[in-house]
Amino acid sequence: MKIAVCVNHVPDTAAKINISSDGKSIDNTGVTYVVNPYDEFAIEEALKTKEKFGGDTIAISLGNESNKETLRKALAMGIDNAVLLKTEEYYDSLSVAKALAAEIKAQNSGLVFFGKQSVDFDNSIVGQLTAELLNYNCVSVVVEFELKENKIIADREIEGGKEVVETLLPAVITTQKGLNDPRYASLKGIMAAKKKVIEEKTLAKPNNFTEVIGMKKPAPKQPGKIIGTDSSAVPELVRLLREEAKVI
Ligand SMILES: Cc1cc2nc3c(=O)[nH]c(=O)nc-3n(C[C@H](O)[C@H](O)[C@H](O)COP(=O)(O)OP(=O)(O)OC[C@H]3O[C@@H](n4cnc5c(N)ncnc54)[C@H](O)[C@@H]3O)c2cc1C
Repeated sequence: MKIAVCVNHVPDTAAKINISSDGKSIDNTGVTYVVNPYDEFAIEEALKTKEKFGGDTIAISLGNESNKETLRKALAMGIDNAVLLKTEEYYDSLSVAKALAAEIKAQNSGLVFFGKQSVDFDNSIVGQLTAELLNYNCVSVVVEFELKENKIIADREIEGGKEVVETLLPAVITTQKGLNDPRYASLKGIMAAKKKVIEEKTLAKPNNFTEVIGMKKPAPKQPGKIIGTDSSAVPELVRLLREEAKVI
């Protein structure tokens, strides 16, 4: 079985994000990029599945040269092979899904792990779109995964509980925090990953259906208000919480 895992290279959530002078993209100056945190659960589940059932694992990332850092991290964790779908162009989510679906098909992979969401653009849609394009089954927001021959039993996180779903391969699984504890790359893994060749495939221009026409930063937070320093301030505090903040 060939197990694929799709990994996105995203700004570190601790990074201070600024908007470029064009007003519609991120200014990358000084921004550190990391493996999309949800994709670490996807990598770990791909590795665990291989350890249990054998087969080959492959990590796929769409983006520019710097996405190789994320692919190297996947290789260092134990993924066997990596492909960079290389582009400098803006790809919307559907264009990302189309390119990933074509590569998954070329790799003949019947089990594909995605994160449930990229923490940069937060669309939570690429895994599901890719499944549709491939005509694969799809289970999203998975917190427990079991494979029995060609049958998948997965727990999905839902409001206030879990939903247990059964489906068949070929399938796309999107992973949620809690599914597993992603392993740390060992020193041996890091050294081995440095020697591995990341296959590069240059993509043609995308046929996007959406266009980013602007980006806005959130409004600055209002400064805090001190209404008193002793118990005499309590009635006013209660009034403000009730009438202004509307939280009680
Ligand atoms: C060079 C480049 C520049 C871009 N610039 C901008 C920009 O300035 N503004 C803008 O709004 N968008 C930009 N995008 C698009 C943005 O990066 C994509 O929308 C993003 O790749 C997917 O985000 P999402 O929220 O749709 O993903 P989600 O649907 O939230 O992602 C779910 C899962 O899909 C998989 N996945 C998602 N993206 C990729 C990927 N690229 N490779 C492999 N797996 C993936 C991961 O497993 C992820 O956990 C750019 C894209 C590229 C390639």
